[in-house]
Amino acid sequence: MATIKTKGIIIKRINLGEADKILTILTADRGKIRVIAKGMRRPNAKLGGFLELFRYNDYMLAEGRNLDLVTGASTIESFRQISLSLHRLGLAYYVAELIDKLVEETQDADTIFDLTHSVFREINQQKLPIDLIKSFFELNLLSILGLRPELDKCIVCNKLIDEQAKFGFSWVLGGVLDGEHLTNDHHVVGLNKNELDLLRCLVANPCKSLQMNQSYVDDIPKITRLTNSLMEYALERQLRSRNFLEEVLQF
Ligand SMILES: [Zn+2]
Repeated sequence: MATIKTKGIIIKRINLGEADKILTILTADRGKIRVIAKGMRRPNAKLGGFLELFRYNDYMLAEGRNLDLVTGASTIESFRQISLSLHRLGLAYYVAELIDKLVEETQDADTIFDLTHSVFREINQQKLPIDLIKSFFELNLLSILGLRPELDKCIVCNKLIDEQAKFGFSWVLGGVLDGEHLTNDHHVVGLNKNELDLLRCLVANPCKSLQMNQSYVDDIPKITRLTNSLMEYALERQLRSRNFLEEVLQF
């Protein structure tokens, strides 16, 4: 039986039969995979302690008939602090669920793995406000999926945004609008320069650049609502087009 070595973060676990589990693992080199952990729910299961949700492990897999089997695991990062706060745990579940929904099993996922890994690390370290990590994740996931919001030019007329003038953001159109086109969509939210800077910073940089900067703190609640709407809207479209595709493929 061929042995496969890989590493990745466990994003989902479901029970199988009396004592087994199916694990969904996001790996850097093999995309999203599903594997079977045999006997895991028995007391004293050899690998039980290593195969907790959100663990980042090294794995040895044996090729199975349908799904591969986990034969060995050792932990690289356990992200133990995540489970100490419901708020943080909630965000970790949210991240894992979105990844599970949006990443196909055969999809090359190294950039998504890097994003997920850095987001879990930030949630675990507890240095940044949780809502800021959430916005960071949403904006960068959208960028990887080819849905990066436009933050420099008006989404209608393509003119550079004048930061001294009035401008806004539409999550439906997916970008900023200048004063002239603010009325083009009724989902527009007015933005100030600080809020636009924060959005740009979240898309362009890892969270690190934000750690020393306290001037954005007041802007977080609005930015959180905005990226949440952006994500929900994009997700709805994405899932709708996938359902449509599935329906078409049945005929
Ligand atoms: Zn315009």
